[in-house]
Amino acid sequence: MLVKFFYYAHHSFPLPETHRFPQEKYTLLQNQITASSDFPKEDLIPAPEATDDQLRLAHSAEYIQQIRDGTLPRKLEREMGLPWSPELAKRVRHTVGATIMAARAALEDGIACTGGGGTHHAQWAQPQGYCLFNDIIIASRVLQQERLVSDVLVIDCDVHQGNGTALIAENDPSIFTFSIHCQKNFPARKAKSDLDIGLPSETGDADYMQALKSGLQQALTSFSPELVIYLAGADPFSGDRLGKLNLSYAGLKARDEYVLELCRQNGWPTVVTLAGGYGKDINDTVNLYYQSVKIAKMKQAQY
Ligand SMILES: [Zn+2]
Repeated sequence: MLVKFFYYAHHSFPLPETHRFPQEKYTLLQNQITASSDFPKEDLIPAPEATDDQLRLAHSAEYIQQIRDGTLPRKLEREMGLPWSPELAKRVRHTVGATIMAARAALEDGIACTGGGGTHHAQWAQPQGYCLFNDIIIASRVLQQERLVSDVLVIDCDVHQGNGTALIAENDPSIFTFSIHCQKNFPARKAKSDLDIGLPSETGDADYMQALKSGLQQALTSFSPELVIYLAGADPFSGDRLGKLNLSYAGLKARDEYVLELCRQNGWPTVVTLAGGYGKDINDTVNLYYQSVKIAKMKQAQY
């Protein structure tokens, strides 16, 4: 059994120039994975669009309509950080679809990956920071509704706080939100996750790992998940232009290995989403994503 990788089929919808930053990295990763002999073609699966009913598990009907029609108020479009386009509205539905598919596959295979996702700033009725729909909450609730899982642990290792996820799940004890991030970074106003670790700027590999380990230990004293959604953000990397932390390739590898080994040892089905990454050199971001997917593949083989 190999790790399945669910993605938005970039080649069928070319990227508008205005969306190159921040979305081109996903296209490049997809090209790299498709070209690699590490990943057999049958395990690379284009994801369907999420349905309105699925999106409604995390968002208001009015907001879903605004994204579909491009009628988002100007103020909210600014929060999005991207200009609205019909391509964007379609793409984000596939992104959510990929995370839902990966969650289902994780129940079968132990680990499954998405070629994007981890859009953790998206809130009930507004986008934020390149995130339109919250795939983490939606995928969790789709599986909960189908009674496939009850409790879901979100391990958010993107360098920015998972504020949207925290806000939507605020009164939902079935979703435990853990966020480890750079404290003096976007979003300026943090939400309250079930457990937050706000790291000082310039934190390096060793201190990061220590904080991650003790945070997860703490989270697991009070919560026992049936599904994990992992945000393997590439933006804690030292060469990231929006990160402000100082992790190396080896540090991020150790992070992924630690999280995924913990999940494997406990037998938790785990979805790997890629979340943010804004390398000064875009190839770093793509290589770091590739590194995460390869580690997932290795761990999956041991489930
Ligand atoms: Zn981020």
